[in-house]
Amino acid sequence: MKSMNEMNLFYKLAKFICKHRWLYYLLNYTWGLFLTLIGWITLFFLLITDKVYRNQDNDYFGKMIYLTRKKHDWAFSIGTIVICGNLRVINNSWCYSEDEVNLSIVQHEIGHSIQNAIFGPFMVFIVNIPSMIRYWYRSTFPQKAKGGYYDIWFEKSASIAGIYWKAKWTDII
Ligand SMILES: [Zn+2]
Repeated sequence: MKSMNEMNLFYKLAKFICKHRWLYYLLNYTWGLFLTLIGWITLFFLLITDKVYRNQDNDYFGKMIYLTRKKHDWAFSIGTIVICGNLRVINNSWCYSEDEVNLSIVQHEIGHSIQNAIFGPFMVFIVNIPSMIRYWYRSTFPQKAKGGYYDIWFEKSASIAGIYWKAKWTDII
């Protein structure tokens, strides 16, 4: 996946999926069903234990996003479900108000759900597991972490796919 041609193909597919939203859902609920189901099951347990609630007001992503009841600075996605830590802190880089979501982190997580539409059953092996191991490694051995968190291909391409998603919403692409 690291070669230029493969990434170009990924970006073309991501753009196409963002332009044709029905394809995003079709792929996530067929080819990518494995993680989409796990996402819904996870969400179900987080909702009945009152750990998260649905984000009500967000122009671009509103209904897809669930916020944690407690303050966290992380977000994650499983299939089409995005769980976003609720910072409720206002500063320059994390512009939150009471129930607002940090747009760039949400956009990034949406990008992972676009990856799920594209990679389907392989997503868990080429993105989720490496990403979890990497996250653990970087937070356990911060002095050994090389480069930025978003430098690796599956993080960088998630951010870009997320930009396509929002761009379609605002009709730029
Ligand atoms: Zn990520």
